[in-house]
Amino acid sequence: MPAMKKHELDLSEFPAGTVTEFTTLVCLACIFDIFTKQLGLAPRTAFSEIKRHTPAIEELTTRSAKRPYFDSDEKHPHCPYCKSAKRWLARFDTYCIEGGKTTDAPRRALLKKMPQSGEQFLVLEKKSDSRAVFFEWLDTLRLNLDLNDERWLLAATRNYLERRDPKTNWEEVFSEIRAVRRSTRLPEGWERDGARLFLAPKIYGEALLIQYLVSRSQAHGGLTLEGRLTLMDLIRRLRYSGYLDQLGITEHEPGEVFEKLIDHLASTSDWSRVIAANGVSNASDSDRVKGSKKTTKKKAKKKPSQAKSKKSQPQPDEISPERVKLHYIIDRRDFLEKVKSVYAAYAA
Ligand SMILES: [Zn+2]
Repeated sequence: MPAMKKHELDLSEFPAGTVTEFTTLVCLACIFDIFTKQLGLAPRTAFSEIKRHTPAIEELTTRSAKRPYFDSDEKHPHCPYCKSAKRWLARFDTYCIEGGKTTDAPRRALLKKMPQSGEQFLVLEKKSDSRAVFFEWLDTLRLNLDLNDERWLLAATRNYLERRDPKTNWEEVFSEIRAVRRSTRLPEGWERDGARLFLAPKIYGEALLIQYLVSRSQAHGGLTLEGRLTLMDLIRRLRYSGYLDQLGITEHEPGEVFEKLIDHLASTSDWSRVIAANGVSNASDSDRVKGSKKTTKKKAKKKPSQAKSKKSQPQPDEISPERVKLHYIIDRRDFLEKVKSVYAAYAA
């Protein structure tokens, strides 16, 4: 609802893909109706009850809201239940921040900056796991892509790389990219050659998986840079490329392989660990190469025994869902303003 946004939070310090925004509208006419008619409260009591009200996280973040909540992309929305116009409608903005090393500092800074008085903001925490977070991320990605425009394949690849390696400015890299290819010579990382982006086979395979997951439908498989693939096609390709061996996936039943692949893609610590271990290097950027060497050293310090025995051999990645803490910031400012003005109109 960009037209209705007055004061937005500055989220620019968060790595791409770590914050999901939700907007839910609530109809105050419906709410007053519920409190006065169904619950039998006097308007004044209803007003003070409603002011304290905050919908549950599930109601704020669902893609299919129920009365008195609803979602709308219209500039002049109406309540779908009672047809009330804009002045009766209030907006809750909810920001879901994925907990973790990369978001802790910007999250604390943001909380400090937020106004503390009058319950303008509500901050809640919820335990989740990497799988749920990943599917939420996929859902959001799908909603933001136009699958009828074939450029979505590049956009999906960029979003995946942003999630995997938030330190690289992928928007800049992709500003000139017209094609993404599997590299035949890079063991790790990526490389740009003019308008073409070359990805190491493993990263390329994961990009195909993301594309498949975004576009899959029951009957026709999913669309990828390699055309339309069924799950079987995709698994076969990943097996031949050595990707499944690399992850230590020995299962043969497609469903089981798929589950393991999802856990791998969803695993947050793994994504950062792969970067730390191998460094995503860009041949044209000497600073970055230096940086990745540093992180390799750090990792070697942590696990000296592994580093000695298998120097450059990548370890099979650990595959299991991890616990993730989600931090919700609920912006109640618009709601509080509207409740006040609606009550004033109501009581007059
Ligand atoms: Zn209504």
